[in-house]
Amino acid sequence: MIRYSLKCENDHSFDSWFQSAEAFEKLLGADMVTCAVCGAYNVEKAIMAPQVRMVHKKDTKPGALSAPASPAEQALIEMRKKIEDNSEDVGTNFAAEARAIHSGDAPERSIYGEAKIQDAKSLIDDGISVTPLPWGNKGKAN
Ligand SMILES: [Zn+2]
Repeated sequence: MIRYSLKCENDHSFDSWFQSAEAFEKLLGADMVTCAVCGAYNVEKAIMAPQVRMVHKKDTKPGALSAPASPAEQALIEMRKKIEDNSEDVGTNFAAEARAIHSGDAPERSIYGEAKIQDAKSLIDDGISVTPLPWGNKGKAN
């Protein structure tokens, strides 16, 4: 006896026992293998995900196994790069610099940096546009 994991055209998965591999092929060819769930004739052997643990070579570089960033993370990284490439990092001077730009004491440009919540709030109160960045200010991209 041989057991196959089967899948029908409607994506139902089920297991069936057959006398042999040939018997399975024969029954399948004669449309005698049907879905256990919906009775569909269009049934095929399911592709089994191999349950094999990869043996890693010693020379594998650390970090090589890290999963790629999700599209959302990727987008955030791209956005961060864009902002950091096109803006000036004024660090903790952010609030003062934003005010200076607003009042015309400093050249108009895009800046980013750190500001205390209160400072950011008072900037907004004064009509200075401030956007909180979704990644805080811990370390730069790249
Ligand atoms: Zn089915």
